[in-house]
Amino acid sequence: MSYFRVNENCNGCLSCVENCPASALSYIDHGDQRTLQHNMTKCARCGQCWRICPQDAIEFEHLLVGQWDDVVTMDLVRCRVCGRPLYSIAYQQKVFAGMNMAGEPLCPQHRQRQAASKWPLSRPGKTRINVGGK
Ligand code: SF4
Ligand code: SF4
Repeated sequence: MSYFRVNENCNGCLSCVENCPASALSYIDHGDQRTLQHNMTKCARCGQCWRICPQDAIEFEHLLVGQWDDVVTMDLVRCRVCGRPLYSIAYQQKVFAGMNMAGEPLCPQHRQRQAASKWPLSRPGKTRINVGGK
């Protein structure tokens, strides 16, 4: 996970707050104390606060990097012919349970091939219609 921390070197000069172009830094005074605040949803990860801090107090992981954080991992169903990833097992269970049927795990390409190989065998007595008289 990305993080923004201010370590014990901070002396509260507020240079970072005053120079943040995104208003992602602020402070609040309560009683005899001042607390520095940072809002990650506003932060543009520009690094200005980190560069300007005279105390080297700002520690910022993933500075200037659009970091992707893993939020959930789940098991996959793959095409039984080619192994191509299709959907999660949880999704399969939800969808096929709703349709009250079991689905064969096939990618679109192999589903099409399977359907073509069954037709016209799956329809006894039916023959292909010649299109264009050929
Ligand atoms: S990285 Fe940039 S936008 Fe984020 S708090 Fe620091 S100065 Fe503000
Ligand atoms: S610029 Fe550095 S020392 Fe000054 S308030 Fe910000 S973090 Fe603290």
